[in-house]
Amino acid sequence: MFKKVVFLFVAGIICYACTTVPVTGRSQLSLVSNSEIIPMAAQQYDEVLKKGPISNNKEQTDMVKRVGLKIQTAVEKYMAEKGATSELKGFEWEFNLIDDPQTVNAWCMPGGKVAFYTAIMPICKDEDGVAVVMGHEVAHAIANHGRERMSTGLVQQFGLSTLGAAMGQNPGLTSQIFAQAVGYGSQLGMLSFSRKHESEADRIGLIFMAMAGYDPQEAPKFWERMSAIGGGQKPPEWLSTHPSDNTRINDLNAAMPEALKYYKKN
Ligand SMILES: [Zn+2]
Repeated sequence: MFKKVVFLFVAGIICYACTTVPVTGRSQLSLVSNSEIIPMAAQQYDEVLKKGPISNNKEQTDMVKRVGLKIQTAVEKYMAEKGATSELKGFEWEFNLIDDPQTVNAWCMPGGKVAFYTAIMPICKDEDGVAVVMGHEVAHAIANHGRERMSTGLVQQFGLSTLGAAMGQNPGLTSQIFAQAVGYGSQLGMLSFSRKHESEADRIGLIFMAMAGYDPQEAPKFWERMSAIGGGQKPPEWLSTHPSDNTRINDLNAAMPEALKYYKKN
């Protein structure tokens, strides 16, 4: 209870450690800086790649890298137009496809480290579908959702704390909070993104894919395909971290006119 009160106090009232989400302008708790979280992400990403295996499907790999590069270019253009290029400091983009026919998943870690798993490719169906997932995952990273979740986790587990203090106190728990916060594959029981984060990533993702030259109207179609396979015995990992409900399609459609303006500018 005490921790919860402290958290609400920190998050809602003083919020001395807050930053603003690009695009939506929402204020978010930020006890962890990019300069702290990006190196942690890069290290984890290397381990994921080492374990791999990296797909040897050249066509699919090329598609993931091509879409990734276009989305990256769109993000850089968007941030430059908003005078927010400094928010991309430390980003070293990478796009890889991991050969895993069981894991329907994709994610983007802080700093622009992206992984797709081969099992999500048939649901993407084509390059537009890959752009829907890429736009959405990159949007989570640009909106610093991992950093925000990690900040919330630190407050909940340690009381008001800094990353350095948490590391000193309990490095194992801090690493777990990091893994759950950035949402990459782990057996720890993944935290799902909140509806607030999902809706934000949907809106920002649509803009990024539209700027990259992909039709944002493909996004609701992709989510319908994803939801359709979610009815089976074992829901895809991606759906367990990205809960889909009726409001998602409504939110996507509400965000569509704004995204279409970017699409038509191309
Ligand atoms: Zn999401």
